[in-house]
Amino acid sequence: MTTPFGQSTVLGYPRIGPDRELKRAVEAYWAGRIDAAALQETAAGLRAQVWRTLRDARLDAIPSNTFSLYDHMLDAAVTVDAIPDRFRALGLGDLDTYFAMARGTAAQPALELTKWFNTNYHYLVPEIGPSTAFAARPDKPLSEYAQARELGLSTRPVLVGPATFLLLAKPAADAPDGFRPFDRLDDLVTVYADLLAALADAGVSWVQLDEPAYVADRSPAEIDALRRAYTRLGGLRRRPRLFVATYFGELGDALPALLGTPVEAIGLDLVAGLGNLERLAASGPIPGRTIVAGLVDGHNIWRTDLRTAAERGAVLTGLADHVSVSTSCSLLHVPVDLAAEPDLDPALRERLAFARQKVDEVVLLGRALRDGVAKLPAPAGPHHWRDDTVRGRLAALRPSDTRRGPYPSRAAAQQARLGLPPLPTTTIGSFPQTASLRAARADLRAGRLSPSSYAARMRDEVAAVIALQERLGLDVLVHGEPERNDMVQYFGERLGGFAATVNGWVQSYGSRCVRPPIIYGDVTRPAPMTVEWSSYAQSLTRKPVKGMLTGPVTILAWSFVRTDQPLTDTANQVALALRDETHDLEAAGIQVIQVDEPALRELLPLRAADQKAYLDWAVESFRLATSGVADSTQIHTHLCYSEFGEVLSAIDTLDADVTSIEASRSRMEILDDLRAAGYARGIGPGVYDIHSPRVPDQAELTAALRLALAAVPSERLWVNPDCGLKTRGYEEVEPALTNLVAAAAEVRTTL
Ligand code: GLN
Ligand code: ZN
Repeated sequence: MTTPFGQSTVLGYPRIGPDRELKRAVEAYWAGRIDAAALQETAAGLRAQVWRTLRDARLDAIPSNTFSLYDHMLDAAVTVDAIPDRFRALGLGDLDTYFAMARGTAAQPALELTKWFNTNYHYLVPEIGPSTAFAARPDKPLSEYAQARELGLSTRPVLVGPATFLLLAKPAADAPDGFRPFDRLDDLVTVYADLLAALADAGVSWVQLDEPAYVADRSPAEIDALRRAYTRLGGLRRRPRLFVATYFGELGDALPALLGTPVEAIGLDLVAGLGNLERLAASGPIPGRTIVAGLVDGHNIWRTDLRTAAERGAVLTGLADHVSVSTSCSLLHVPVDLAAEPDLDPALRERLAFARQKVDEVVLLGRALRDGVAKLPAPAGPHHWRDDTVRGRLAALRPSDTRRGPYPSRAAAQQARLGLPPLPTTTIGSFPQTASLRAARADLRAGRLSPSSYAARMRDEVAAVIALQERLGLDVLVHGEPERNDMVQYFGERLGGFAATVNGWVQSYGSRCVRPPIIYGDVTRPAPMTVEWSSYAQSLTRKPVKGMLTGPVTILAWSFVRTDQPLTDTANQVALALRDETHDLEAAGIQVIQVDEPALRELLPLRAADQKAYLDWAVESFRLATSGVADSTQIHTHLCYSEFGEVLSAIDTLDADVTSIEASRSRMEILDDLRAAGYARGIGPGVYDIHSPRVPDQAELTAALRLALAAVPSERLWVNPDCGLKTRGYEEVEPALTNLVAAAAEVRTTL
């Protein structure tokens, strides 16, 4: 007897809890305030709450094992026993080994953290070598399945698929050159066979294996390996039925490959990967399969146009034996419940759907597909958040508005004005966000501190940060960003067309959650946003103070963005607001302005064919934001958090006068890459890693600078850390910057 898949499902659900209960519990455990049993009790409670929510919404296929104490890739590594020896050797219990891999210990750095596809979620990168001894450790999926059984629910355990697991892993430190984790696919599939057998023995009827890595460009060999893996798993005698889920885009050639295997169900993203529909239609009927149609956007917060979605679903009904409706990806990427946002503008609110509301949409669509589409509600009408002034200004822009004068004349004008020494020293913007600053912000929110006392407190902080930098002898100062909760949220709260939520938390990594603003309408700048802070800071010193802005691409990347117009239009609207801000900063006497774009790499499309168009508009919006100033005003940008391989030439076309870039971990290799890409302006390769509490000594910084000087002429080299200092304490920052200034001075004498 076979169990049908069900009519509606979600690929995953937020696990942080409606009130970030998970964050509080894990942080309490790390701090020793609660024990492991209390942590597990909270975790079990959160899982049960999700399952009940899904059941009460009448979702008929409910997933399990989508919960995680930290990260689902880390869970996957544990499930196949891919625990690097360096963590096993710590001799900790299971839970503490798990957290050691996630967070590191005094003796062992954590696994690398990196972005999950094109989302703002970050996963821990498994380290796989030729000798990694994979073994099935199904405890977590089994116990979650059993817990749901006790609630009367027969769930579908979700696992990261073996191919995606290895494609996202990195070679262990001791792996020989040329080794790829993916080389171990056959061994890993053997272990997945054991996992599937264990699940089948426990009574599991469907399992979900996530293979999103196949929506990116994959070689024919990688696609063939996918086919072989699922042919093998599909051929097992003792196994649950297999649902291979894909998301974040189009499967391309991997779709026919998967269809050629015995898997019973395939999940397709029909929001970010609408082309999947055509591809499937072109390949003709697919007997004996379930298609799980990802019709509800799991990656954004807008309500679904249910009628259009149902029409798409209906196309599939003619092709597959069974069509089930799901979210386009896990709901991990959206906030939990719109019910927690009673104060949002009702006209906006009625256009939104958070995770809980998206479940209702999936259920409705599932019924509509089964019973006909008659009763679906109409889509929301056109909105009225237009600003014709902004649209008019953008339409009137000429190409010259996004071009500055030639770099050599800019550089000369800036040097004449700023008179900086060779190898100028600076920082990336933020100074430590101390407990006292955070307390002041909490007091402001709670009404315990008046806005004017809060502002006075922040001004004191700026004055202290300026005094410290003067004392340390830095050349280009910053105001320290004490007033900013977050580099995007701060601007979102000050721009028109943006809405902030009070409880719209989304997991970024581990216990860290963010609250992305919502860009719902045309973007305006009702008033200057940063000028008061920068001019106050500048009034305290004769040295130049850098104005500090977040760039248009990063603002988009870390917000929920409207989908009723191309991203490029929204980016240009944000850029125009920033252009007005740079203009006002310049008029207020600010001579150096930094526009941060740490997320430049983040929005890069997963498929190479789409990347150029993205980079073109991304660069153009940055230039729009930064080209309205005089040649003598120095524009900086800052980039971090990623491998810059695919965006090197875009970094050049940003045309910033100075680019500071994360470099210390890659030992300055980025400098050669940038030069090869044609970059020949000011460059500040980070000389030390601010993600670690370690204080670099002078010799180490001097060595980093000498290494940089081998690739960059001294007239263009700047000296700065890898990134902002907000996560560090003053006890680390002061000695580190003292050494940085001393190292620059030492190297200057040898020029
Ligand atoms: N100016 C910001 C800071 O220093 C840049 C942060 C970032 O790159 N993520 O905090
Ligand atoms: Zn940074």
